[in-house]
Amino acid sequence: DRIISSEADQSEVTLEQSLRPQTLKQYIGQDTVKNNLEIFIEAARLRRETLDHVLLYGPPGLGKTTLAVIIANEMGVNIRTTSGPAIERPGDLAAILTALEPGDVLFIDEIHRLPRTIEEVLYPAMEDFCLDIVIGKGPSARSVRLDLPPFTLVGATTRAGSLSAPLRDRFGVLSRLEYYKEDHLKSIVKRTADLFETQIDDHSAAEIARRARGTPRIANRLLRRVRDVAQVKGNGEIDLALAKEALELLQVDRLGLDHIDHKLLKGIIEKFRGGPVGLDTIAASIGEESETIEDVYEPYLLQIGFLQRTPRGRVVTGAVYHHFGMEVPAP
Ligand code: ATP
Repeated sequence: DRIISSEADQSEVTLEQSLRPQTLKQYIGQDTVKNNLEIFIEAARLRRETLDHVLLYGPPGLGKTTLAVIIANEMGVNIRTTSGPAIERPGDLAAILTALEPGDVLFIDEIHRLPRTIEEVLYPAMEDFCLDIVIGKGPSARSVRLDLPPFTLVGATTRAGSLSAPLRDRFGVLSRLEYYKEDHLKSIVKRTADLFETQIDDHSAAEIARRARGTPRIANRLLRRVRDVAQVKGNGEIDLALAKEALELLQVDRLGLDHIDHKLLKGIIEKFRGGPVGLDTIAASIGEESETIEDVYEPYLLQIGFLQRTPRGRVVTGAVYHHFGMEVPAP
């Protein structure tokens, strides 16, 4: 039951859906992405065309799925949702594509995990709205071309670098989502508290925002746990003392780092003299998967300047020693 994890767990999925803003106006922060999308959507609507394919990339929990839903809402079309690992055979993708209505948004989460053979089916679908399928086997095999309705593909990925170049090139709009600023996260916390009909003061919302590592999903998660404590230990209203007490219980420190971050950073300091050390070695030494560290933990630690990536591996910075009250070693 971790606060910092990449995915929404099952119980969270429905809750997250109910918290999702439905329009660009309700979507807080990410101003550059939002302003660009606003223009592209408006232009497509004025020309009565489908929107260009959109690739959204950035760390987990920043609102990629939310944006995909908003794009469909703003265009006034339906959204079909699937994910890279769910599409195993070209036929799976063909079934999804042929069921689309004109103008629909097809959202593929974790698009970097699409098998290469399926990517190849996607190229003509994205470019010319058609599908090349092979019927039969051996010498009698022939290729048939099927027309598809025009659609907008919205792809989401935490790893834009893992996308093949031909796939990446077929997106007209590439938008990178950034970690949220504290005041935007504070607004998100207040908005969610409103939806929960929970009273929260400004200082408490700011405290939660500070510890949410720039991520709305984590901000909402922290708020839910703080609300539980307020319910049990107080009268349900959240004030600063209560918020701080709850956050202590959750073992999320003042920068939003949890015990895995601590284990990771202290591991590099204690076992590898601060680095450089390879990702796989760190992962093995703390019993986590390299992929989880790379996608979930590391991006934020890089962002706040606690880790550096060098050609020889990861290195902790002086800021980490300060954070733990340790003396910075002489070079
Ligand atoms: P993943 O890639 O891991 O699926 P995601 O980037 O698609 O994550 P979402 O599921 O869209 O993230 O968002 C997570 C939660 O944060 C949702 O409950 C959503 O309501 C909330 N959220 C995200 N962005 C915003 C925002 N800009 N304003 C308000 N709430 C937001």
